[in-house]
Amino acid sequence: MLSLLTLCPPFVILLWYTMVHADGSVYQTWDYFMQHGLQGFNNIWPKPTAVAWKIIACFAAFEAVLQLFLPGKRVEGPISPAGNRPVYKANGLAAYAVTLITYLSLWWFGIFNPAIVYDHLGEIFSALIFGSFVFCIFLYIKGHLVPSSTDSGSSGNIIIDFYWGMELYPRIGKNFDIKVFTNCRFGMMSWAVLAVTYCIKQYEENGKVADSMLVNTTLMLVYVTKFFWWEAGYWNTMDIAHDRAGFYICWGCLVWVPSVYTSPGLYLVNHPVNLGIQLALFILVAGIVCIYVNYDCDRQRQEFRRTNGKCLIWGKAPSKIVASYTTTNGETKSSLLLTSGWWGLSRHFHYVPEILAAFCWTLPALFNHFLPYFYVVFLTILLFDRAKRDDDRCRSKYGKYWKLYCDKVPYRIVPGIY
Ligand code: NDP
Repeated sequence: MLSLLTLCPPFVILLWYTMVHADGSVYQTWDYFMQHGLQGFNNIWPKPTAVAWKIIACFAAFEAVLQLFLPGKRVEGPISPAGNRPVYKANGLAAYAVTLITYLSLWWFGIFNPAIVYDHLGEIFSALIFGSFVFCIFLYIKGHLVPSSTDSGSSGNIIIDFYWGMELYPRIGKNFDIKVFTNCRFGMMSWAVLAVTYCIKQYEENGKVADSMLVNTTLMLVYVTKFFWWEAGYWNTMDIAHDRAGFYICWGCLVWVPSVYTSPGLYLVNHPVNLGIQLALFILVAGIVCIYVNYDCDRQRQEFRRTNGKCLIWGKAPSKIVASYTTTNGETKSSLLLTSGWWGLSRHFHYVPEILAAFCWTLPALFNHFLPYFYVVFLTILLFDRAKRDDDRCRSKYGKYWKLYCDKVPYRIVPGIY
């Protein structure tokens, strides 16, 4: 925890510096440090500027207003470990459409040029690093003093509380859900906005957009569109239903997502590779198939749970395990575990197309440098670790029923291998 708390912030700056000022070459950055030592780090770390703060504040305020006021269906989240059921307003897709249309219109009508965001990106990341850290301190204090629900509490260790968070779904007032804001409306939205920004920057620089950039941006936008299409489903996943609001999830979504997740596109701004129509189309179609399979895995699980197992999985009645468990306040409840369809191939098969999709939107960068592939490598480590964490959590929640599932579906992620 301590190493992630201290190493992630400088890494974000190093990644930005290498992509924008060192030609995407880790070797060049290394060389720079060999010459300038650690003092060199101080020189490259951009100070947050007024422009950076203004851009972040406008974006955050715009997204908060959309989250609060756009209409949306009332959606109930899953029952929490303390037995509560949080309620959300599902207006993510509308917020996504309004955001992209507004951003493109500002550019089209000459009101705001997205290239400015690219030109101040280092300062923006720097401001995000510090601002989000302060925000996590606020979450920590709020968790101690005024928790929003009984799904909160301290582990007794200040570092663990700060890192993993105190509250499961902290709110401001009754309706403003902080994790929906940090994870979806700021983090995921900034991913789409920055992908478009990089595309526009390349256009402004070169008067055209390379096919590699088009494939990268299109795939990232398809992925984020899928995310917002399915946002209410996301509220049933580990990020929202199990991980508390602390540095890990909130700082990660506020800083790591905009900087690291978008980095293949950032690399392509100054490396307009020409793929040719055939290769470009091949990568595009492969990427879309992966995103679809990933979506279908999530959809299958949620449809199965929503209908209480009364649905068809790959055209047949699903095979399942009825697993009972006890909530923290002693109530006995039961959940259904799907053991056919994608969920019969392995216990976390959906991570395979997730990783392959990320590989597909990085592939347009070809193989001159390693750094564009950092996100794919990071995602692979993250998801393998996540699968293990989830297995451990489910084993302690469901006990013998989880063992039954593991006997029936023995592989954790890659069928036949792992
Ligand atoms: P899941 O949506 O897979 O949620 C896991 C939970 O589902 C478990 O904790 C358990 O919860 C329940 N569950 C487990 N097995 C079954 C089963 N067989 N049948 C029914 N329910 C089951 O987890 P994630 O949050 O990891 O993934 C959601 C999506 O987000 C995926 O598409 C993933 O690829 C993506 N993702 C992307 C990341 C990124 O950084 N790009 C990071 C993480 C995820 P319960 O307690 O309800 O039983």
